[in-house]
Amino acid sequence: MTNNLTSLSYIKQLSRKYGFKFDKKYGQNFIINPSVCPRIADSAGIDENSGVIEIGTGIGVLTSRLAQRAKKVVALEIDTSLQPILAETLAEYDNIKVIYQDVLKTDIARLIKQEFGDMPVSVRANLPYYITSPIIMKLLEENLSIDNITVMVQKEAAARICAAAGSREAGAISLAVQYYSRPQVCFNVSPGSFYPPPKVISSVIRLDIKKEKDVHPASEKNMFRLIKAAFGQRRKTFVNSVSANLSLPKAQVESALSATGLDLMVRPEKLTLKEFAALSDILLTD
Ligand code: SAM
Repeated sequence: MTNNLTSLSYIKQLSRKYGFKFDKKYGQNFIINPSVCPRIADSAGIDENSGVIEIGTGIGVLTSRLAQRAKKVVALEIDTSLQPILAETLAEYDNIKVIYQDVLKTDIARLIKQEFGDMPVSVRANLPYYITSPIIMKLLEENLSIDNITVMVQKEAAARICAAAGSREAGAISLAVQYYSRPQVCFNVSPGSFYPPPKVISSVIRLDIKKEKDVHPASEKNMFRLIKAAFGQRRKTFVNSVSANLSLPKAQVESALSATGLDLMVRPEKLTLKEFAALSDILLTD
């Protein structure tokens, strides 16, 4: 099957033909390195029986590769000016449905039910970088029936999202990601692999969704409230940050740390998800 969607001259020809203008506000950096889409689409988890949700089609370079592997691809694209281009570039595929709407305003659970039925579903995308975290958090927090999320993000975002507890980059997002999934950084992609080239290196990350959670706070909501409060003032100790952000007496926060066997001077990035769960059970009981 021929696929010249990574050809810069074809992309420019399409843009001229349909009067398409790259829109920075939508994070439009399209893949032109022919080895990148196969590495995203062909990694474990997609076969002729499975469904894929793609976020942001661009001119359809990844969409078409996914359609060659999967039973069905449903793609969400915010920019309706791509519609005539996609009508041309994806014309040969009868297993792709493009829905022109904002992913952040989409009821994805309903979409999965309507479009995929009982099929195993995963998410693959070269994400618009301006909304990487909101998209990932939406996909995780809605407890969707998906197997994995394999997406391209900025390298720095990948490090934050996949940071292990105790590492310098650990933060509220890495803990949330670990609660819902097993994250890994798969490979890096250079700016020259995109048109127009972004200013930064990119990384493909893979989040394998946990079917069973391995941390069980009394209240998920309270654990995330505590995590948010702890990282609200970076470089502060857990005690100072939490007592300031949740208006709790320092002595109460210190006694929760002691009860959990933790150092009173501990910094939030050193705490594991399990420790946050235990601390929220003690500190936030409403
Ligand atoms: N998949 C294509 C590729 O790799 O060449 C395009 C990737 S480009 C980085 C991001 C795509 O997401 C663009 O097509 C952009 O218009 C689309 N996009 C941006 N914001 C979006 C949103 N809120 N909902 C859906 N799509 C969005």
